[in-house]
Amino acid sequence: MIYCVTHLALIIDAQLIGDPDRKIQHIFYDSRNIVSPADGAFIAFIGIRDGHKYMEDAYKKSVRIFIGSHIPVIHSDATYLIVDDPVSALQKWACYHINSYPSLTTIGITGSNGKTILKEWLNQCLWDVFSIIKSPKSFNSQMGLPLSVLQIESKHDLGIFEVGISKPGEMDKQERVLHPTIGVLTNVLGAHSEYFKDKEEQIVEKIKLFKNSQVIIYPTDPNISKIIQLEYPNKKLISFGKENSDIQLLETTLNGNTTVLSVSVFGEPREFIFPFTDDASIQNVLCLLAVLSELGYNYDFIQEKILHLQFVSMRLELVSGINNCTIINDTFNSDYQSLEIALHFLFQQNKPKKVLVLSDILQSRLAEAELYKKIADLVNSFPLHHILLVGEKTYKYRHLFNNILKSFLSTVEVIRFLESRSIKDAALLIKGARKFELEKVTQLLEVQSHDTILEVNLHSLLMNVNYFKSLLKPETKIIAMVKASSYGLGNFEIAEVLQFYHIDYLAVAYPDEGFKLRDKGIHLPIMVMNPEISSYDRVIEYELEPEIYSFRELNLFVHKLKEKKLTKYPIHIKIDTGMHRLGFQPEEAQKLGDLLKNNVYVKVKSIFSHFAVSDVSEQEEFTRLQASKLKYSFDILAKILGYQPLLHIANSAGIINYPEYHFDAVRLGIGMYGYIDNEKTLKKLKNVITLKTVISNIHDLEPGETVGYGRQFVAKKTTSVATLPIGYADGIRRIVGNGKGYVTIHGKKAPIIGNICMDMMMIDVTNIACKEGDTVIIMGENPSLIEYAEWYQTIPYEVLTSISSRVKRIYYRE
Ligand SMILES: *Cc1c(COP(=O)(O)O)cnc(C)c1O
Repeated sequence: MIYCVTHLALIIDAQLIGDPDRKIQHIFYDSRNIVSPADGAFIAFIGIRDGHKYMEDAYKKSVRIFIGSHIPVIHSDATYLIVDDPVSALQKWACYHINSYPSLTTIGITGSNGKTILKEWLNQCLWDVFSIIKSPKSFNSQMGLPLSVLQIESKHDLGIFEVGISKPGEMDKQERVLHPTIGVLTNVLGAHSEYFKDKEEQIVEKIKLFKNSQVIIYPTDPNISKIIQLEYPNKKLISFGKENSDIQLLETTLNGNTTVLSVSVFGEPREFIFPFTDDASIQNVLCLLAVLSELGYNYDFIQEKILHLQFVSMRLELVSGINNCTIINDTFNSDYQSLEIALHFLFQQNKPKKVLVLSDILQSRLAEAELYKKIADLVNSFPLHHILLVGEKTYKYRHLFNNILKSFLSTVEVIRFLESRSIKDAALLIKGARKFELEKVTQLLEVQSHDTILEVNLHSLLMNVNYFKSLLKPETKIIAMVKASSYGLGNFEIAEVLQFYHIDYLAVAYPDEGFKLRDKGIHLPIMVMNPEISSYDRVIEYELEPEIYSFRELNLFVHKLKEKKLTKYPIHIKIDTGMHRLGFQPEEAQKLGDLLKNNVYVKVKSIFSHFAVSDVSEQEEFTRLQASKLKYSFDILAKILGYQPLLHIANSAGIINYPEYHFDAVRLGIGMYGYIDNEKTLKKLKNVITLKTVISNIHDLEPGETVGYGRQFVAKKTTSVATLPIGYADGIRRIVGNGKGYVTIHGKKAPIIGNICMDMMMIDVTNIACKEGDTVIIMGENPSLIEYAEWYQTIPYEVLTSISSRVKRIYYRE
């Protein structure tokens, strides 16, 4: 966007004062957010505060163009555009702007809720097909929509905009700004509003957005359908819903954490695997299906996109707290919907006590009393042990909440209170609007450690599990490999999430890993691959299921079961089909079968083996031989036993490369943690881990000065060096020092210079704008596990498991 002020004055009907040749390239409306003032104009809105009061602040930050209804202090070197009403001026401007892109297809989304999710989902589905311009966040107000529209450039070919209103009369103005090609109404809840008499009035107002649309997509609801059909009899109308709709939901079948949706798409029965299970998401996806069908996409395209839809929300961060507490940190956002999501997440945590710390809710259009009634009803519907409220409003309405431990006016008081108690064995949700700075509460309760953290994105992990699941037959079980602390990601956190999502089985390497999981409340069946003889007692006590790989081990274990007078104890028989690590030889199957046949002490739950080269296509023959050896042994054993244990062999690569060997179960490891040695599949997986730190210190070197032990780096010119609090003791090997490896700061690569120290490393930031305290990505998207594996000359598995346990793990959901 480039507008000359003279031209703009004509467009918005303004009086121009000052230099008539200035150009505007961007707009500021909050003087706190001015970063690069050149060619920017400050527009003074009158909202909760009067923007004219901040013109002076903007001027001090070097802004020289101002749009407002008056000029508080005039500067001779500034240019002013004086208008009657800045908001309508902005709307006129946006209207002019969008009309200069007549070929742009636009989707305008309005409705009581679901707008942002639909917009983001459309973007997730279409980002690689179109050059999309969309409203940032939920920028949909009288100012937000025109500001979004002004971002349109000639490179865009699809615009997706949210349109909101709060009072009658606003939609006509919004329509002048947008007039979408495709109009979408997500729903109308008809919630009480001081401006609208009833739901019908809200519908009438909202659908004014579609005056110039070619197509209208709307939910099947008697009121809505009737009003739309009456108002727009000559437009193409597409309805979605549970009955009598163009896009009609016929049936939903829950399948673990996905839903199979049977949908009639314009009369054609279709099935979609959808990675969400809640009603709101299902309603949203019907609307999404309607839009995608209208855009002309076929079933295959739509199914593929829907399978990979991601959760849209702010992120919820999970950190370990003191006194065996878990803390969910959600201190950016406070509204009804996000509170509901966060409360659900709190109740996924496996802790005896649940505690909520909640601030006032800001930015709600609901009347205050009604809002807090609604919030209290929601909160009261969860069996919380304690609720700590913060803020004047929650204080006023505290009587509505059950289980009030305490209601405070400020965050400082909450902190003082918490310091005087010690909350133990609890999961705490810290939830509130940004201005309450509840992160200070989190800091108080967090286990202290250094600035280097390993972030684990639990949502991505689940998306990866879902991806693998989508490749399996519905009845095939998944055994999730959580050995070696879930490949280094967490002691029990990963298992906990997997358990919540009803994974079938877990497997660990050693008994003590299984004991830890049981102690943390994991009740899924757990297979132990190396059940050490010395821990048989506890293996049995903790109900872990041993892998039996030799006659000696079988005898000893059966002996122990006899001693304890236990029968039918679940065991897993390992067959060595070529790995030559552990297992019975296929030739031993007969003998093993005879031993097991009349043995009442054990029950064979599964018979399995392990691929050695399922990731190497040239060695397909060996893999096939392994599978056939297993099948051969299985047939002999199953026949003698007279029942059918589960049969399994495929690891992550096996799942991808050998669908014919999925058998009854698969053992998923590295794939769910985000890596696979298969380029095509890798693209479908989400990155799960990010190793981060912050810059401790920055200093400049003169030419000739050196860095670190051994003085390996010598500055050739003036060089800015940043020191990071991470070293080889954290698992970053010395071999990536001296320019071999790099880190990323604000998306830019900074080489590691000099030798890596035990607890620190130095990087060259000469060409990067950064400061002390800035975040640095050590490993994640960029550089990736794969790059590290190349630098270390090893495999990603080893990179992942070598991040040292002193690095704090933080878990989050987006
Ligand atoms: C680790 C392991 C797996 C998982 O392998 P990935 O390649 O990480 O999927 C499967 N089976 C056994 C026996 C394992 O030890």
